[in-house]
Amino acid sequence: MATYLISDLHLDETRPDITRAFFAFLKGEAANAEALYILGDFFEVWIGDDDDAPLADEVARQLRQYSDKGTALYLMHGNRDFLLGEDYAQRCGATLLPDPSLVELADSPVLLMHGDSLCTLDQEYMAFRQQARNPQWQQALLAKPLEERRQIAAQIRAVSKSMNSRKAEDIMDVTPDEVMGEMRKHQVHTLIHGHTHRPARHPLTIDGQAAERIVLGDWGDQGWCIRAEKNGLELIHWPTAD
Ligand code: MN
Repeated sequence: MATYLISDLHLDETRPDITRAFFAFLKGEAANAEALYILGDFFEVWIGDDDDAPLADEVARQLRQYSDKGTALYLMHGNRDFLLGEDYAQRCGATLLPDPSLVELADSPVLLMHGDSLCTLDQEYMAFRQQARNPQWQQALLAKPLEERRQIAAQIRAVSKSMNSRKAEDIMDVTPDEVMGEMRKHQVHTLIHGHTHRPARHPLTIDGQAAERIVLGDWGDQGWCIRAEKNGLELIHWPTAD
């Protein structure tokens, strides 16, 4: 039996094709999986578990059906859906995973992260991240009416878009020292993350030993996943067109 990892689907009402590709993935490649890990930015935006948008409802229904068939389902927050809470996870039959999380894949310890915390050169974003992960800030935001939260989310996205367009390429990527530091701290030779939308397998050497950082891709014209089986990990992509 295989375990699957995905991230950065950025599910959104404006991209029904990606939602369809995800549902097809649950019924196809990932059907009967032992576990499915969703490593953040599953949704393009999340304004609270009380959001009455039909997309969140439909995704919860499909995930519940999927997890009821016996697949262990895990959700990690990304920088877009950090407000996703226990209520919604329960509706999906999923467990919320802390970032980072240490798991066992293909008989080896593997560190899972969304990846935004590794982009330490982006100081503007790191400051926002610290604020956004503050429980008091989150509670104050969640206490606002849905309509107001929708507007705030749109503003945050617009500001982040214009900031990102002015940032150098290497600032938007992970900081190599941060990657090494996290892998050493957790004593792993494999790190899996998403967020940067730069899917690749990066061989590394840590203290003279072979190691690897595997980056999941964001879903668009292609879907991306890692398939973990006894004999190892595979980074796979396929066209999402239907
Ligand atoms: Mn992200």
